Amino acid sequence: MRIGAHVDDVDPLAEAAEREADLVQFFLADPQGWKAPAKREDAQAISDSDVDVFIHAPYVINLASLNNRIRVPSRRLLLQHAKAAATVGAKGLIVHGGHVRDGEDIATGFDNWRKAFAYAEKEGGLPTPVLIENTAGGEHACARRYEMIARLWDAIGEYEPGFCLDTCHAHAGGLDLTDVVDKIKAITGRIDLVHANDSMDGFDSGRDRHANVGHGEIGAEAIAHVIREADCPAVVETKGGAAKQAEDIQTLRELLK
Ligand SMILES: [Zn+2]
Repeated sequence: MRIGAHVDDVDPLAEAAEREADLVQFFLADPQGWKAPAKREDAQAISDSDVDVFIHAPYVINLASLNNRIRVPSRRLLLQHAKAAATVGAKGLIVHGGHVRDGEDIATGFDNWRKAFAYAEKEGGLPTPVLIENTAGGEHACARRYEMIARLWDAIGEYEPGFCLDTCHAHAGGLDLTDVVDKIKAITGRIDLVHANDSMDGFDSGRDRHANVGHGEIGAEAIAHVIREADCPAVVETKGGAAKQAEDIQTLRELLK
């Protein structure tokens, strides 16, 4: 089972070595901004390395949004990131499920997701697989509860998107980790990546605060259980820099032996 970490984007391969990580995830641009990724001089080196790579798309992207000043640039930014992610040989581009606002019809949000994939297809396709990540909070989220994830897949399943299961988001979002993998796979047919995070907050709290593995409300074994069931790579998105993340990775490796 390959395990890694979300790391700083300046020298991701050095970060991987420091953690003895099998894979890394990083941002290609400011996660809070709308700027397209810049060309990377180390793209080929990253692509050629034994370290697997996943790219996390900026948080500002909301492909479901009914506001065209968010939705339209979101589509464009997703495609720009998918192209840039391909230059570093990324196995996936992770993007959050998004949401609509209070009083808005979520059916339109799901249709906006479909239009985002249709737009990408018209522009030549997404050269990196898009992995949609479940989110922790809000009552109008596209990928928090099973019922919504099922409606999202009804809308976009034909484009065969991937799925990224975040254990913190699932726990805080109200999905029981004991059977979450089976239930998600029944909807999506696949889980491509696990975000292996503990949670500072309780079940169904709706709060998104990651904790180091074994130092939160979930516990290390429950996180390892999800990785085992999903049978796919895992990334810790935890605090404490290289030392703490290396510890998180080691804890999971021990449990998964
Ligand atoms: Zn995550």
